[in-house]
Amino acid sequence: MSNVTKKDPKKGTLHSGPTSISKIPAPKHWVSPVPFGLGKIKPKHIRDTMKVAWENKDNLKYATNILTKGVCDGCALGVSGLYDQTLKGPHICTTRLNVLRLSTMPPLKEEIVHADVDRLRQYSSAELRKMGRIPYPLIRRKGENKFSRISWDGAMDMIAEKMKTLDPKQYAFYLTSRGITNESYYTAGKVARFLGTNHVDNASRICHSPSKTALKRSVGIGASSCTYKDWIGTDVLVFWGSVASNASPVSTKYMLAAKKKGTKIIVINPYKEPAMDKYWVPSNAESALFGTQVADDFYQVNIGGDIAFMHGIMKYWFEMEEEQYGSAINHAFVQDHVNGYEELKTKVDELSWEKIIHSSGMSKERIRELAELLANSKNAVFAWALGLTMHSFATDNISQVANLALLRGYLGRENAGLMPFRGHSSVQGTGEMGADPFVLPGGGWDEDNVKRIEELWGFDLPKWQGDIVGVNLEHAALPDDHEKKLKLYYMSGGNFLETMPNPEFIEKALSEVDIRVHQDIILNTSTLVDAKEAVIVLPAKTRFEQEGGGTSTSTERMVYFSPEIAGNKQPVEEARAEWKIYVDLAKRVKPETAHLVNFETAQEIRDEIAKANPDYDGIQHLKKQGDVFQWGGAWLCEDGVCPTPDGRGNLIPIDIPNLEKPEGTFYVTTRRGKQFNSMVFKETDPFNNAGRYDVLLNAEDANTLNIVEGEGIVVYNQHGVFQGKALFTDIARGNIGLHFPEGNFLIPKGIYDSPSGIPQYSVAVKIEKAERFNARKDIDYLEKKLEDDEIDAPV
Ligand code: SF4
Repeated sequence: MSNVTKKDPKKGTLHSGPTSISKIPAPKHWVSPVPFGLGKIKPKHIRDTMKVAWENKDNLKYATNILTKGVCDGCALGVSGLYDQTLKGPHICTTRLNVLRLSTMPPLKEEIVHADVDRLRQYSSAELRKMGRIPYPLIRRKGENKFSRISWDGAMDMIAEKMKTLDPKQYAFYLTSRGITNESYYTAGKVARFLGTNHVDNASRICHSPSKTALKRSVGIGASSCTYKDWIGTDVLVFWGSVASNASPVSTKYMLAAKKKGTKIIVINPYKEPAMDKYWVPSNAESALFGTQVADDFYQVNIGGDIAFMHGIMKYWFEMEEEQYGSAINHAFVQDHVNGYEELKTKVDELSWEKIIHSSGMSKERIRELAELLANSKNAVFAWALGLTMHSFATDNISQVANLALLRGYLGRENAGLMPFRGHSSVQGTGEMGADPFVLPGGGWDEDNVKRIEELWGFDLPKWQGDIVGVNLEHAALPDDHEKKLKLYYMSGGNFLETMPNPEFIEKALSEVDIRVHQDIILNTSTLVDAKEAVIVLPAKTRFEQEGGGTSTSTERMVYFSPEIAGNKQPVEEARAEWKIYVDLAKRVKPETAHLVNFETAQEIRDEIAKANPDYDGIQHLKKQGDVFQWGGAWLCEDGVCPTPDGRGNLIPIDIPNLEKPEGTFYVTTRRGKQFNSMVFKETDPFNNAGRYDVLLNAEDANTLNIVEGEGIVVYNQHGVFQGKALFTDIARGNIGLHFPEGNFLIPKGIYDSPSGIPQYSVAVKIEKAERFNARKDIDYLEKKLEDDEIDAPV
């Protein structure tokens, strides 16, 4: 990509390529003039890097080749080799280094693979992960306590024979984003439909489906409207419910570049996350030495209080407008490009400040500060993550962000836009490839798109609505004779036990299917759960072993090509490329027509993706290391023209959710420590020294409960009991934080954001000193079951 911004007749303005970070020192952003953050709690990047080099010493050359030639299989920020499209200079982080071992480690030893499953269950997923890769197909039938070896033919025939006996509504596919390529997602989505089922879901939907649903209804798009480069030099960069620095460490380098160009960074989160406060960017000498004060300001909103907070901002804008027309609203943009102004204004006018303040937990003065900052800023980028998406009102949360952007005209141009900040590598491509119950490649289930895909694929699609993963799991637990009973669950990656709410129920659900298939690289705790007939484990190739390479799509819609990388000294000889396994399955279940889903090479898949999803026209030309293109150009909705039926964005009046909870209860939410999704790399968070069982608590709240720092406390509700230790942190009063997945026991199953189907991950809880709880639990808690409505406040 050149440094000159170009326009393409179809895509609009093209991304202008990487820029440079200013080398002029900016001491005003330093954390401290004391070098290397001595005496401060902070990650030890150099020590961690040396540790990774040591871990990979048995396959060092291959590890180096992966880092220098492959596309990172860590987070969704996206990088090819060591270079990205945002900033010149090297791009690498400890998350990437930590996941590297998954691709370089040897197969599991025989004594582990065939050990008693009860012994294996004593290991955590982190311990299982470190033991090595799944060496060959495995099976554990009902009543057996060890996995035994099975041939590929034996395993695939068994799955296929079972599928042939079932109604396609009785089996489901699930793919998580661990390194999976667009080619595999596309093939899985197509094969699922070929086999007759629409139960095909993926991890990206669990994290960001509300973003897609909300952006579609608000501005007609399903992806970030802008690029990371738009952060650099925008007036205000807002991270809403996102700890981007922890999830995607190199994003801090972009933030640093942005600050050097005068951008103000605002973080909105109940907890003042230390990684968004101060960071030592290792690849920038100035920041590595003196640190960078990342956020200019934190707004510590209540868990679930974001909608009210945003209403407060708009209410203040409308008040400013009464004083002076045009002082807050971009009327030209609204008139030319936006529907629903009066309806939204009426909604906001009806809301009292009292209600806004109560729900958001923010004072009027603080709301006013941010409202004024935005009103005086020509440009802003809003980025958000799971703090907004994991609620039963998540789609409304995101549409509310879009409301702010539309009123100010922050859309479709340089340094302005809406960015769902995504998690795993390639997660953006999952739905775009059609591995999702609600979409097909290139569109939804509307008549035209269904007809188009049927013509391209050459077979009829099942016309019923597929279920989301949470519902599939609920159906797995149904009695055998129930018409909705799920009997075979085919999973590519993932660990539901450690990602979904209510792990006890999840274990039951997983064990109640007849056959469970785990297509994966490693064993984890979910793999070890029983099944009614058999658990089948299939060894998958990593992204870097896949014949013909593979592509992945980043948060900013860059489609990167990752080549097949030779030289693995410790290969898993029997592992197969994931897309090949799906094709093989189709051939066994429906041999007569399997030619319709047959792919011989990865290139054939890319050729077909280019036709199936017109946005991906260009993917067929990606053939070698470094090849990349951005679908949609630099800005979606360019010049304010949205891909909605009338070309205009829609302001949507949103209700403030009812967050009332009984007196004396708290809202709990979960957060990540030193981990990548559910993969925990360290028991202690290097940013705040929190252990995995520490409860992040406001000191004043603790005071009211006579809790002292470090003492044992119990967090409980009708769904579970969490025994931990009090850690006083800067978190908004009335809110507490636990680590994910340890805190999942408190989260109820079956509560979803209805438009998007994402599970809710926050709930009301009580807190008590452990000594009191444990002394009285027999009489107070266990015998007298907590009533559901006692603390099950609607959120
Ligand atoms: S920030 Fe994300 S994409 Fe970049 S190296 Fe780290 S894990 Fe990989």
